[in-house]
Amino acid sequence: MKYLIFFAILIWGASCSTVGQANFPKGAKPMRTASGDTIVPVIKTDEEWKEILSPIAYSVLRESATESPFSGKWLENDKPGQYICAACKLPLFKSKTKFTTSCAWPSFYDSIEDAHIKEVVDDSHGMHRVELRCARCDGHLGHVFNDGPKPTGLRFCINSASLDFEPAD
Ligand SMILES: [Zn+2]
Repeated sequence: MKYLIFFAILIWGASCSTVGQANFPKGAKPMRTASGDTIVPVIKTDEEWKEILSPIAYSVLRESATESPFSGKWLENDKPGQYICAACKLPLFKSKTKFTTSCAWPSFYDSIEDAHIKEVVDDSHGMHRVELRCARCDGHLGHVFNDGPKPTGLRFCINSASLDFEPAD
């Protein structure tokens, strides 16, 4: 009897874990984060992204461009709230982790949650850097460096065009 219950739980668990995955392209699976929420990949064609993103947001998020230094709309923003992906609206950074730096792009010392941002090695332009991408839509955000303030010592250097801002209530 004990074994029967064990197998019943195994089968129940396996069937639950596949719910909702049927329509996703191969290789793009929902991902459970440390805080318990589930990130379901957002996948669109280039044409679909062009329809919903501004030209600068499209070129940064989908073509990995970098906006001009000191040009971003969030560089000077010091209001309380959170920054979300401009493409898929996934929360990425809290305003309290934004800091002032000589860097010409908005800078944060931590993400809202590790699992919301993917790190990818970027050896382009003759440099070795770590690129940051949105974990839900794979949009390019910026890069992370090791010269940030405490407590993390990290500097998430992010294009304003990759972000929307939600003010706190
Ligand atoms: Zn996104």
